[in-house]
Amino acid sequence: MKFKGKRAWVTGASSGIGQAVARALAGEGAEIVLSARREDRLQSLAEELKNQGAQVHIEAADVSDRAAMETVAERLAALGGIDILINNAGTMPISPIINGRVDEWDQMIDVNIKGVLYAINAVYSGMAERKAGHIVNVSSIAARTTYPSAGVYAGTKHAVRAISETLRKEAIRFGVRVTDIQPGSVDTELPDSIGHEKIRGIVKSNMYGEDAAMLKADDIANAVIYALEQPEHVDVGELLIWPTRQE
Ligand code: NDP
Repeated sequence: MKFKGKRAWVTGASSGIGQAVARALAGEGAEIVLSARREDRLQSLAEELKNQGAQVHIEAADVSDRAAMETVAERLAALGGIDILINNAGTMPISPIINGRVDEWDQMIDVNIKGVLYAINAVYSGMAERKAGHIVNVSSIAARTTYPSAGVYAGTKHAVRAISETLRKEAIRFGVRVTDIQPGSVDTELPDSIGHEKIRGIVKSNMYGEDAAMLKADDIANAVIYALEQPEHVDVGELLIWPTRQE
Protein backbone atom coordinates (compact mmCIF):
# COMPACT_ATOMS: atom_id res chain seq x y z
CA MET A 1 0.00 0.00 0.00
CA LYS A 2 2.37 2.67 -1.30
CA PHE A 3 -0.12 5.55 -1.23
CA LYS A 4 -2.25 4.89 1.86
CA GLY A 5 -3.30 8.23 3.37
CA LYS A 6 -2.82 10.08 0.04
CA ARG A 7 -5.67 11.62 -1.94
CA ALA A 8 -5.19 11.49 -5.74
CA TRP A 9 -7.19 13.35 -8.39
CA VAL A 10 -7.20 11.72 -11.84
CA THR A 11 -8.53 13.73 -14.79
CA GLY A 12 -9.60 11.84 -17.90
CA ALA A 13 -10.46 8.87 -15.68
CA SER A 14 -13.35 7.63 -17.83
CA SER A 15 -11.11 5.63 -20.19
CA GLY A 16 -7.61 4.68 -21.29
CA ILE A 17 -4.60 5.88 -19.35
CA GLY A 18 -6.58 7.75 -16.70
CA GLN A 19 -8.66 4.71 -15.89
CA ALA A 20 -5.53 2.51 -15.64
CA VAL A 21 -3.77 5.01 -13.36
CA ALA A 22 -6.86 5.33 -11.14
CA ARG A 23 -6.97 1.54 -10.76
CA ALA A 24 -3.26 1.36 -9.99
CA LEU A 25 -3.41 4.15 -7.39
CA ALA A 26 -6.51 2.69 -5.73
CA GLY A 27 -4.77 -0.68 -5.66
CA GLU A 28 -1.94 0.97 -3.72
CA GLY A 29 -4.29 2.41 -1.11
CA ALA A 30 -4.87 5.96 -2.38
CA GLU A 31 -8.22 7.73 -1.94
CA ILE A 32 -9.27 8.67 -5.48
CA VAL A 33 -11.15 11.56 -7.08
CA LEU A 34 -12.27 10.67 -10.62
CA SER A 35 -12.93 13.37 -13.23
CA ALA A 36 -14.10 13.40 -16.86
CA ARG A 37 -17.28 14.45 -18.66
CA ARG A 38 -18.87 10.96 -19.02
CA GLU A 39 -20.26 10.55 -15.52
CA ASP A 40 -21.78 7.11 -16.20
CA ARG A 41 -18.30 5.72 -16.88
CA LEU A 42 -16.94 7.35 -13.75
CA GLN A 43 -19.79 5.80 -11.74
CA SER A 44 -18.99 2.29 -12.94
CA LEU A 45 -15.25 2.71 -12.27
CA ALA A 46 -16.06 4.13 -8.83
CA GLU A 47 -18.23 1.06 -8.08
CA GLU A 48 -15.42 -1.26 -9.17
CA LEU A 49 -12.83 0.51 -7.01
CA LYS A 50 -15.16 0.77 -4.02
CA ASN A 51 -15.84 -2.97 -4.24
CA GLN A 52 -12.10 -3.44 -3.88
CA GLY A 53 -12.10 -1.33 -0.71
CA ALA A 54 -11.05 2.06 -2.09
CA GLN A 55 -12.49 5.42 -1.03
CA VAL A 56 -13.67 7.14 -4.23
CA HIS A 57 -15.25 10.49 -5.18
CA ILE A 58 -16.55 11.73 -8.53
CA GLU A 59 -16.12 15.26 -9.87
CA ALA A 60 -17.57 15.23 -13.39
CA ALA A 61 -16.42 18.33 -15.28
CA ASP A 62 -15.14 19.58 -18.60
CA VAL A 63 -11.51 20.55 -17.91
CA SER A 64 -11.72 23.35 -20.46
CA ASP A 65 -14.59 25.02 -18.56
CA ARG A 66 -12.83 27.49 -16.28
CA ALA A 67 -15.83 28.16 -14.03
CA ALA A 68 -16.55 24.43 -13.64
CA MET A 69 -12.91 23.80 -12.74
CA GLU A 70 -13.02 26.58 -10.14
CA THR A 71 -16.03 24.86 -8.57
CA VAL A 72 -14.16 21.53 -8.59
CA ALA A 73 -11.21 23.29 -6.92
CA GLU A 74 -13.46 24.47 -4.08
CA ARG A 75 -14.89 20.98 -3.63
CA LEU A 76 -11.41 19.42 -3.58
CA ALA A 77 -10.30 21.93 -0.94
CA ALA A 78 -13.38 21.02 1.13
CA LEU A 79 -12.33 17.35 0.92
CA GLY A 80 -9.02 18.33 2.52
CA GLY A 81 -6.94 18.97 -0.60
CA ILE A 82 -5.11 16.81 -3.10
CA ASP A 83 -1.74 15.11 -2.60
CA ILE A 84 -1.35 13.74 -6.13
CA LEU A 85 -2.72 15.21 -9.37
CA ILE A 86 -2.73 13.02 -12.47
CA ASN A 87 -3.33 15.72 -15.08
CA ASN A 88 -4.24 13.40 -17.91
CA ALA A 89 -7.42 14.53 -19.73
CA GLY A 90 -6.65 15.20 -23.37
CA THR A 91 -7.95 15.05 -26.91
CA MET A 92 -6.30 14.50 -30.31
CA PRO A 93 -8.41 15.62 -33.30
CA ILE A 94 -5.38 15.82 -35.58
CA SER A 95 -5.39 16.92 -39.22
CA PRO A 96 -3.09 18.85 -41.57
CA ILE A 97 -2.78 22.50 -40.53
CA ILE A 98 -3.31 23.35 -44.20
CA ASN A 99 -6.85 21.91 -43.97
CA GLY A 100 -7.75 24.70 -41.52
CA ARG A 101 -9.99 22.76 -39.08
CA VAL A 102 -10.08 25.71 -36.70
CA ASP A 103 -12.71 24.38 -34.27
CA GLU A 104 -10.53 21.32 -33.63
CA TRP A 105 -7.47 23.53 -33.01
CA ASP A 106 -9.49 25.48 -30.45
CA GLN A 107 -10.64 22.26 -28.79
CA MET A 108 -7.09 20.87 -28.47
CA ILE A 109 -5.74 24.14 -27.11
CA ASP A 110 -8.64 24.46 -24.65
CA VAL A 111 -8.49 20.89 -23.32
CA ASN A 112 -4.79 20.02 -23.60
CA ILE A 113 -3.31 23.34 -22.48
CA LYS A 114 -5.93 25.38 -20.63
CA GLY A 115 -7.43 22.28 -18.99
CA VAL A 116 -3.99 21.24 -17.71
CA LEU A 117 -3.40 24.73 -16.28
CA TYR A 118 -6.84 24.91 -14.63
CA ALA A 119 -6.23 21.56 -12.91
CA ILE A 120 -2.80 22.67 -11.69
CA ASN A 121 -4.36 25.86 -10.37
CA ALA A 122 -7.04 23.86 -8.57
CA VAL A 123 -4.52 21.96 -6.43
CA TYR A 124 -1.28 23.94 -6.31
CA SER A 125 -1.93 26.40 -3.48
CA GLY A 126 -3.09 23.62 -1.13
CA MET A 127 0.03 21.58 -1.94
CA ALA A 128 2.31 24.57 -1.37
CA GLU A 129 0.64 25.32 1.99
CA ARG A 130 1.23 21.73 3.11
CA LYS A 131 4.71 21.81 1.54
CA ALA A 132 3.99 18.48 -0.18
CA GLY A 133 2.41 17.27 -3.36
CA HIS A 134 3.09 15.69 -6.73
CA ILE A 135 1.71 16.92 -10.05
CA VAL A 136 1.96 14.43 -12.92
CA ASN A 137 1.18 15.93 -16.32
CA VAL A 138 0.58 13.55 -19.22
CA SER A 139 2.05 15.07 -22.36
CA SER A 140 3.31 12.78 -25.15
CA ILE A 141 6.25 11.96 -27.37
CA ALA A 142 4.57 14.73 -29.37
CA ALA A 143 6.05 17.02 -26.69
CA ARG A 144 9.47 16.31 -28.24
CA THR A 145 8.80 15.79 -31.92
CA THR A 146 6.04 16.23 -34.47
CA TYR A 147 4.64 14.62 -37.60
CA PRO A 148 2.55 15.82 -40.56
CA SER A 149 -1.07 16.26 -39.32
CA ALA A 150 0.05 16.39 -35.68
CA GLY A 151 1.13 20.04 -35.66
CA VAL A 152 -1.48 21.54 -33.35
CA TYR A 153 -1.63 18.47 -31.08
CA ALA A 154 2.17 18.48 -30.85
CA GLY A 155 2.03 22.22 -30.16
CA THR A 156 -0.26 21.58 -27.18
CA LYS A 157 1.95 18.77 -25.88
CA HIS A 158 5.14 20.83 -26.30
CA ALA A 159 3.29 23.42 -24.21
CA VAL A 160 2.50 20.85 -21.51
CA ARG A 161 6.15 19.85 -21.38
CA ALA A 162 7.22 23.51 -21.08
CA ILE A 163 4.60 24.12 -18.39
CA SER A 164 5.79 21.03 -16.49
CA GLU A 165 9.45 22.05 -16.59
CA THR A 166 8.68 25.62 -15.57
CA LEU A 167 6.33 24.56 -12.78
CA ARG A 168 8.94 22.14 -11.44
CA LYS A 169 11.49 24.94 -11.19
CA GLU A 170 9.00 27.29 -9.53
CA ALA A 171 7.52 24.73 -7.14
CA ILE A 172 10.58 22.89 -5.83
CA ARG A 173 11.12 25.30 -2.98
CA PHE A 174 7.51 24.74 -1.88
CA GLY A 175 7.95 20.96 -1.63
CA VAL A 176 5.87 20.20 -4.75
CA ARG A 177 7.24 17.71 -7.27
CA VAL A 178 6.33 17.73 -10.97
CA THR A 179 6.62 14.91 -13.50
CA ASP A 180 5.92 15.02 -17.23
CA ILE A 181 4.93 11.63 -18.68
CA GLN A 182 5.53 11.24 -22.43
CA PRO A 183 3.90 8.12 -23.88
CA GLY A 184 4.30 6.86 -27.43
CA SER A 185 1.32 5.11 -29.05
CA VAL A 186 -0.98 3.63 -26.44
CA ASP A 187 -3.95 1.44 -27.34
CA THR A 188 -6.85 3.59 -26.08
CA GLU A 189 -9.93 5.39 -27.41
CA LEU A 190 -7.89 8.52 -28.20
CA PRO A 191 -8.01 8.10 -32.04
CA ASP A 192 -11.84 8.25 -31.81
CA SER A 193 -11.40 11.98 -31.22
CA ILE A 194 -9.95 12.42 -34.74
CA GLY A 195 -12.56 14.09 -36.93
CA HIS A 196 -10.54 13.87 -40.18
CA GLU A 197 -11.74 10.52 -41.57
CA LYS A 198 -8.63 9.55 -43.53
CA ILE A 199 -6.24 10.40 -40.68
CA ARG A 200 -8.46 8.56 -38.19
CA GLY A 201 -8.34 5.46 -40.40
CA ILE A 202 -4.53 5.59 -40.63
CA VAL A 203 -4.04 6.06 -36.89
CA LYS A 204 -6.62 3.41 -35.96
CA SER A 205 -5.04 0.84 -38.25
CA ASN A 206 -1.77 1.09 -36.23
CA MET A 207 0.54 2.97 -38.56
CA TYR A 208 3.57 1.04 -37.31
CA GLY A 209 2.25 -2.24 -38.72
CA GLU A 210 0.11 -5.10 -37.48
CA ASP A 211 2.97 -6.84 -35.68
CA ALA A 212 4.19 -3.69 -33.91
CA ALA A 213 2.61 -3.87 -30.46
CA MET A 214 1.32 -0.60 -29.07
CA LEU A 215 1.70 0.27 -25.41
CA LYS A 216 -1.11 -0.67 -23.03
CA ALA A 217 -2.63 1.88 -20.67
CA ASP A 218 -1.23 -0.23 -17.82
CA ASP A 219 2.31 0.35 -19.15
CA ILE A 220 1.80 4.08 -18.59
CA ALA A 221 0.22 3.47 -15.18
CA ASN A 222 3.40 1.57 -14.23
CA ALA A 223 5.51 4.57 -15.27
CA VAL A 224 3.32 6.93 -13.23
CA ILE A 225 3.60 4.72 -10.15
CA TYR A 226 7.41 4.59 -10.59
CA ALA A 227 7.57 8.41 -10.58
CA LEU A 228 5.25 8.72 -7.58
CA GLU A 229 6.90 6.10 -5.39
CA GLN A 230 10.36 7.68 -5.36
CA PRO A 231 11.59 9.06 -2.03
CA GLU A 232 10.87 12.74 -1.28
CA HIS A 233 14.30 13.92 -2.42
CA VAL A 234 13.87 12.40 -5.91
CA ASP A 235 11.78 14.13 -8.58
CA VAL A 236 11.45 12.19 -11.82
CA GLY A 237 11.13 15.21 -14.11
CA GLU A 238 10.27 13.38 -17.33
CA LEU A 239 9.59 9.84 -18.51
CA LEU A 240 9.52 9.01 -22.23
CA ILE A 241 7.96 5.62 -22.93
CA TRP A 242 8.10 4.17 -26.44
CA PRO A 243 6.48 1.06 -27.85
CA THR A 244 9.61 -0.88 -28.80
CA ARG A 245 8.78 -0.80 -32.51
CA GLN A 246 7.66 2.83 -32.83
CA GLU A 247 9.93 5.17 -34.83
P1 NDP B 1 -8.74 8.36 -24.04
O1 NDP B 1 -9.48 8.97 -25.17
O2 NDP B 1 -8.97 6.95 -23.73
O3 NDP B 1 -8.94 9.23 -22.71
C1 NDP B 1 -9.04 10.62 -22.74
C2 NDP B 1 -9.68 11.05 -21.44
O4 NDP B 1 -9.74 12.49 -21.40
C3 NDP B 1 -11.08 10.54 -21.28
O5 NDP B 1 -11.28 10.11 -19.96
C4 NDP B 1 -11.94 11.75 -21.58
O6 NDP B 1 -13.14 11.70 -20.81
C5 NDP B 1 -11.05 12.88 -21.07
N1 NDP B 1 -11.38 14.14 -21.68
C6 NDP B 1 -11.31 14.49 -22.99
N2 NDP B 1 -11.77 15.73 -23.17
C7 NDP B 1 -12.13 16.19 -21.94
C8 NDP B 1 -12.69 17.38 -21.46
N3 NDP B 1 -12.98 18.40 -22.29
N4 NDP B 1 -12.93 17.51 -20.14
C9 NDP B 1 -12.66 16.50 -19.30
N5 NDP B 1 -12.14 15.33 -19.68
C10 NDP B 1 -11.89 15.18 -20.99
O7 NDP B 1 -7.21 8.61 -24.39
P2 NDP B 1 -5.85 8.30 -23.58
O8 NDP B 1 -6.11 7.59 -22.34
O9 NDP B 1 -4.93 7.74 -24.58
O10 NDP B 1 -5.37 9.80 -23.30
C11 NDP B 1 -4.98 10.27 -22.01
C12 NDP B 1 -3.87 11.28 -22.18
O11 NDP B 1 -2.72 10.63 -22.73
C13 NDP B 1 -4.20 12.42 -23.14
O12 NDP B 1 -3.71 13.63 -22.61
C14 NDP B 1 -3.42 12.05 -24.40
O13 NDP B 1 -3.10 13.18 -25.17
C15 NDP B 1 -2.21 11.39 -23.78
N6 NDP B 1 -1.47 10.53 -24.69
C16 NDP B 1 -2.06 9.45 -25.27
C17 NDP B 1 -1.34 8.66 -26.17
C18 NDP B 1 -1.97 7.51 -26.90
O14 NDP B 1 -1.34 6.99 -27.85
N7 NDP B 1 -3.15 7.03 -26.52
C19 NDP B 1 0.06 8.93 -26.47
C20 NDP B 1 0.59 10.06 -25.77
C21 NDP B 1 -0.14 10.82 -24.92
P3 NDP B 1 -14.58 12.21 -21.26
O15 NDP B 1 -14.68 12.04 -22.75
O16 NDP B 1 -15.51 11.33 -20.49
O17 NDP B 1 -14.64 13.63 -20.82
